[in-house]
Amino acid sequence: MTVRVQAGMVWEKLDKQIKKQGLTLRTYPTSYPASTVDGWLDQGGAGIGSYEAGWFRDNVISARILFPDGSAKEMKGKDLDLISEAEGTTGLVTEATVKVMKDEELELISIGCPNAHDLQKLIQRINDNDLPVWSLILINPKMAELKNKAPMLEHYGHPVEERILLPAAYIMTIAYRKKNKKDFDSKLPSILKLCEAKILSDKIAPHEWEHRFKLMVVKRLGPSLIPAEVVIPLSSLGDVMMEIERKVDQPIVKEGVVIRRGAGGKPEVVILGFIPSDQRKFSYNFVFSLVLTIMKIARKHGRRPYATGLYFAKRAKEILGVERAKRMKTFKKQVDPKGILNPGKVLGEGFMSTVLTVAGVFEPMIRFFGNYVITQAGERPGKPVNGIPADVAWPAYSCSQCGYCIEECDQFYGLGCESQSPHGKWYWLREYMEGREKWNQFMVDTMLVCTTCELCNLRCSAALPIEPSWMKLRGKLINEDKRMAFPPFEIMAAALHAEGDIWTGYRKNHADWFPKDLIKKHGPGHKSKNVYFAGCTASYIENDIGTVRILDKAGVDFTFLGEKESCCATPMLVAGKWELFEQTMRKNIKAVKDAGADTVRLCHNSNLLLYEIF
Ligand SMILES: Cc1cc2nc3c(=O)[nH]c(=O)nc-3n(C[C@H](O)[C@H](O)[C@H](O)COP(=O)(O)OP(=O)(O)OC[C@H]3O[C@@H](n4cnc5c(N)ncnc54)[C@H](O)[C@@H]3O)c2cc1C
Ligand code: SF4
Ligand code: SF4
Repeated sequence: MTVRVQAGMVWEKLDKQIKKQGLTLRTYPTSYPASTVDGWLDQGGAGIGSYEAGWFRDNVISARILFPDGSAKEMKGKDLDLISEAEGTTGLVTEATVKVMKDEELELISIGCPNAHDLQKLIQRINDNDLPVWSLILINPKMAELKNKAPMLEHYGHPVEERILLPAAYIMTIAYRKKNKKDFDSKLPSILKLCEAKILSDKIAPHEWEHRFKLMVVKRLGPSLIPAEVVIPLSSLGDVMMEIERKVDQPIVKEGVVIRRGAGGKPEVVILGFIPSDQRKFSYNFVFSLVLTIMKIARKHGRRPYATGLYFAKRAKEILGVERAKRMKTFKKQVDPKGILNPGKVLGEGFMSTVLTVAGVFEPMIRFFGNYVITQAGERPGKPVNGIPADVAWPAYSCSQCGYCIEECDQFYGLGCESQSPHGKWYWLREYMEGREKWNQFMVDTMLVCTTCELCNLRCSAALPIEPSWMKLRGKLINEDKRMAFPPFEIMAAALHAEGDIWTGYRKNHADWFPKDLIKKHGPGHKSKNVYFAGCTASYIENDIGTVRILDKAGVDFTFLGEKESCCATPMLVAGKWELFEQTMRKNIKAVKDAGADTVRLCHNSNLLLYEIF
């Protein structure tokens, strides 16, 4: 079964679409909410489902490639080796035909292993016994520890998810098809008996699976991470894990993906290691050098860095294989004689690649300095940076630029530009804090335009407090720094200040909407324990309010504040005009008290304000 897709298709969208036909992806990267078919083909990789489906390259039947001279060609079979992992240096992918599979119900299980050698043995036995596994991912004990420490998704300062504590063990999470449960369950006990592995609590597997796209949450403890990604044979897993832990004296978190049939049909493991560190400190450079140590260990145990890129271009022969690197070079000369496609990458002789090759020679010495640095893992916002509140500056550096938040963002959707998404705004804030950007009215407006929908908070791979951070910046920019909000907000503020509503209506007309026949019973002046707060939109714009009739018919005794009622002031909160917001709230509270009431029935916007913000 296959699907033909345009290259810029995001995995999550493709999966949703084909699920309607009863199909699903055989494999996908854990960047599934934002990464694309072309990106993965050109980057090369393995991910969820790769235990069964192998490397992504093995799941592509053909791809249409566009060359610099304007010609295009459908490439398949061995020719795909000239495109996969070429990082766009040999042509642009415009469409691809990708293998898919029947969408079947999955079962999940998490298994804890006390040490890396047992973990390796366990995976080997899973292979030898043909356990019907579709996906096998793993984390090391340090990752489990830091996941336990990582901040949780919050809403107005309250956690909105349950903390599931992970044991300090190597944790393997397996997904297999429900139809194979009998076979799986009959084989697993004897496999586990031979090493010290244990099935973990029922809550852990669904939690780890649900959070498989959110591993960047540990970045919040850095606020930066130093990544190192290597591919090793399964037969070296225990030795590599232990040697890294022996030689890298820093809190290194690791996650892995197992490929049952990797290079030469042998099992392989992709290990992605991260060291939490703070890129704002000079010592970050020393810790960064430990990447070379990890690469060296992987090399010693028979394998290689994950990809070439700019940094490892000089090692293309080792990463891609001598024959393939040679073919790619010849092909590139033929299709891109002027070298305009991603210059310096993959087969290039760039500066960074040379620096890393030279630094590799001095690795033991550099390692000494890298290990000497004392690394703290945990959120430590500290002081404001260049006027940016400390608790906004920290997440700006924690953002991994994964891009999950872009397309879901209302502001991005409305304006169509990446700078108008959380991804773009965090990037700009970092540039500002480092002195490369300055505030101007466009950027002030960019912080104000956010609709406060909070979809970004739910999507974020690091559970960053995105919307609350923009809210803090509104107060800082407008209330403290006295910058201008955009014109509609300024008009609303002036009207609210003068007449108590944002719609430029006169205060004397505030009660005009109120049904004449109910004025005596519920209108201004009537004392009651209940106040009906209509709000200014309902009073001046959408004034066909049925609520007062319903309350009356239901026999509720209530009063209405009339001209003493002011706007709930929500727009002033999001406009950053916090002093005016506070003054207005105080006026409303006094008017309610003067009416002798202790209960307020609200319009929906004011309801949100009262119960969520206050
Ligand atoms: C949170 C997170 C999780 C990740 N998980 C995984 C994982 O599980 N497995 C994995 O392998 N990787 C993973 N990655 C790395 C990365 O996301 C993947 O390699 C992904 O497939 C890149 O896709 P993209 O669409 O973002 O491409 P980009 O990063 O935009 O591009 C990748 C490369 O392809 C080239 N390219 C892009 N489009 C084209 C085109 N049309 N034609 C030719 N060349 C093109 C680019 O120049 C670049 O060199 C992860 C990254 C993050 C941030
Ligand atoms: S809260 Fe603002 S930044 Fe976040 S998704 Fe909504 S509009 Fe975009
Ligand atoms: S803010 Fe956006 S780009 Fe940054 S980590 Fe969260 S989802 Fe990714």
